[in-house]
Amino acid sequence: MRTITHWIGGKPEPGTSSRTSPVWNPATGEQQAEVTLASVADVDAAVRSAAVAFETWSQSSLSTRTKVLFAFRELVNARTQELAEIISDEHGKVVSDARGEVQRGLEVVEFACGIPTLLKGDFSDQVSGGVDVFSFRQPLGVCVGITPFNFPAMVPMWMHPVAIACGNTFVLKPSERDPSASMLVAELWSEAGLPDGVFTVLHGDKEAVDGLLDHPDVAAVSFVGSTPIARYIHERGTANGKRVQALGGAKNHAVILPDAPLDYASDHLVAAAFGSAGERCMAISAAVAVGPAGDDLVAAVSDKARAVKVGPGRETDSEMGPVVTAAARDRIVGLIGSGAEQGATLAVDGRGLTVPGHEKGFFVGPTVIDNVTREMDVYREEIFGPVLSVVRADSVDEAIALINANPYGNGTAIFTSSGEAARRFQRGVNVGMVGINVPIPVPMAYYSFGGWKDSLFGDKHVHGPEGVSFYTRAKVVTARWPHVEAASGASYHFPTAN
Ligand code: NAD
Repeated sequence: MRTITHWIGGKPEPGTSSRTSPVWNPATGEQQAEVTLASVADVDAAVRSAAVAFETWSQSSLSTRTKVLFAFRELVNARTQELAEIISDEHGKVVSDARGEVQRGLEVVEFACGIPTLLKGDFSDQVSGGVDVFSFRQPLGVCVGITPFNFPAMVPMWMHPVAIACGNTFVLKPSERDPSASMLVAELWSEAGLPDGVFTVLHGDKEAVDGLLDHPDVAAVSFVGSTPIARYIHERGTANGKRVQALGGAKNHAVILPDAPLDYASDHLVAAAFGSAGERCMAISAAVAVGPAGDDLVAAVSDKARAVKVGPGRETDSEMGPVVTAAARDRIVGLIGSGAEQGATLAVDGRGLTVPGHEKGFFVGPTVIDNVTREMDVYREEIFGPVLSVVRADSVDEAIALINANPYGNGTAIFTSSGEAARRFQRGVNVGMVGINVPIPVPMAYYSFGGWKDSLFGDKHVHGPEGVSFYTRAKVVTARWPHVEAASGASYHFPTAN
């Protein structure tokens, strides 16, 4: 059995713990590797190595950092297919989708290549007689990223290129379910010329996470994952005096108004609900059909859901792969059953789907559940699988009220031909990322990504300008260079004149 180790001090490191976790191939249902789970001693070794590296990396010039970032960009670009295949084998998503994830991560690297411009400070000349004031931003120290299984390359890349460009060192604790992509990324950083210890990969579970949250040499924590863990990370990290941004789960609604082009809207709904088997934090999991559009919409979406080609991620004609683990599949299947029991209509039922030759794979077929109400479990729970619930509403205002009553606020979308309705929607929804005829409104790397309400704890979104702000702190200098002969002007009271 292949064992996936940590990456500490610029090389693979087995660590001290004998605890491991299985890594499955979701398409075959077989275990393909085991990953080492860090002990508290391993956490300490990783953070110490990063703290030592910070002493020199934080002093490196902007040109040095930029050169490494450009080299890293070239390497990730050249190795995209390899990374995508590693992701597909452990996560299950189709390779073309995994390539898309790497591409979105690469865009953050490209954003971080502009760090000399992003870190430019302010300067005010002559704020008082002979006095200038200027500000600049400095790195924090050892920054930690704790990331989910669903984007094993992209979500960490929301964090480490920006943190490292800002002069920090970075310890990544990736999901134990698909840990291998991070190891290739560590090799690529090393090949790009990043000094040892600046980028570390520490595998583990709660023990590793708690060790990182409690370690006195960790300055900041970026987390992406489910809401209960995000809340916990934020509470424990901030209680320990750390800067924390913790992105949580989601229940993303798409509102379809009667004036939306049906074919366009249903195509996009199906892709947004079933792409990556619904295991995207920005997946559409609730369609809100407004007015008479509902029946035609459910019919169109159901036809398209039945036509989705489900198969192993490595097969080029597969459009949707398996879900990540048997436990995830069983949970999703249970929730679909609860929908039927609680009175919803199973327009398309993906339970029991088998893929020939892959009978033990963790497959669930696309599922459409109609007549869902807000009390049902399928509506209240984040299913994180290929399940689209359809809720009916009478007006755009009722749809906005429904979305605003939901505890999550990650992403949302509206399909309409009316600019007036779209504008009312964009202004009225309490959600961080809004799409207008765009089902998955993931911001480009030079904007920041983040939700509202239970989808984000902390006040900074990731990457973009807010990422740079999160990974740095401001310093303001007030300077005077007096003539040596001039009167000092020192006084015991605050200045009262200019
Ligand atoms: P998860 O919360 O189970 O795990 C995320 C990370 O936390 C992993 O590294 C895991 O090892 C660690 N972890 C798990 N349990 C822990 C515990 N008890 N104590 C400390 N650490 C723990 O999430 P997941 O299942 O890997 O990913 C799916 C979730 O992530 C979904 O809820 C999805 O919406 C969310 N997500 C959100 C975003 C976003 O941008 N808001 C993006 C991607 C995924």
